[in-house]
Amino acid sequence: MLQPVIAIVVPCYNESAVLSMSMAKLSEVLGAMVEDGTVSSQSYILCVNDGSTDSTWEEIEKFHRRDTRIKGISLAHNRGHQYALLAGLMTVKDRCDAAVSIDADLQDDPDIIPEMVKLFIAGNEIVYGVRKSRATDSWFKRTTARTFYTMQRRLGVDTVYDHADYRLMSRRALELLADYGESNLFLRGIIPQIGLDSAVVTYDRQKRAAGESKYPLAKMISFSIDGVTSFSAKPIRLIFATGLILLLLDIVVAIYVLCSYFADSAISGWTSLMLSIWFLGSLILMSIGVVGEYIGKIFTEVKHRPRYAIRDMLWD
Ligand code: UDP
Ligand code: MG
Repeated sequence: MLQPVIAIVVPCYNESAVLSMSMAKLSEVLGAMVEDGTVSSQSYILCVNDGSTDSTWEEIEKFHRRDTRIKGISLAHNRGHQYALLAGLMTVKDRCDAAVSIDADLQDDPDIIPEMVKLFIAGNEIVYGVRKSRATDSWFKRTTARTFYTMQRRLGVDTVYDHADYRLMSRRALELLADYGESNLFLRGIIPQIGLDSAVVTYDRQKRAAGESKYPLAKMISFSIDGVTSFSAKPIRLIFATGLILLLLDIVVAIYVLCSYFADSAISGWTSLMLSIWFLGSLILMSIGVVGEYIGKIFTEVKHRPRYAIRDMLWD
């Protein structure tokens, strides 16, 4: 595709401390791409104000007055990063050839956007920004993040390691994303499921340019639980597996208990109590697991996820 229209989507929640800096930087990157003819002069930046309580929206209005290449939408109330991002992506879906999503705090290096665009022009529909190292993160953030990705992988969520929500998506990828009607949004899990040609660009993640993180530990934990529970019924299977393991252990316990009984070393009532606790315990767990399997089915049904996505078609 020659000179595609690129939309840069920036979710902003109480970002007045950093917004002027990031708009200057993003405009510079976009301007340079327009100048050298890589992208269309119709390309733009869309700020999504996620119900900020500070002057973020007034600032976006100011930027727009100064330069109409900076556009804005404002959500009625704070819905969280994922929803703000979705609102932005769905707004630009019919108004661009590809959209790049990036945080407002300049942690994701905007200088790799031209590289993402080149990979898009070369035919990739999704380009993931993946961070090279976590040297700028604190030990705590590094460890929790690593645990987050490993746990998700183990529990059956397909994500791209060390990729947050810095990515380019083609118009077609955005259209396929629009078919996912689920309310619990975990974009990092959905996008690899879309399954078009993709590429990766690595970058060094910087410290936040100004302002504070809107993702403290508690929000991060709830986000990661959301990620697992929106994508995988594996935890339910684990219940059944635990029940099964207990049932096997039950045989060992039963042998031990019966031996004690026949050796007369058990006080009266202990044998029957032990046998029933273990047997019933494993039975209850397995039953919960069976019920869980059905709940797991309901869980995938209610999401109404698209069952297939057609990539190419030869007709006529
Ligand atoms: N954000 C948002 N709504 C929220 C919280 C955050 O739109 O409720 C935006 C925020 O403005 C930023 C991005 O999401 O552009 C990532 O947030 P932040 O940088 O605070 O997260 P961190 O990088 O610390 O994980
Ligand atoms: Mg950040």
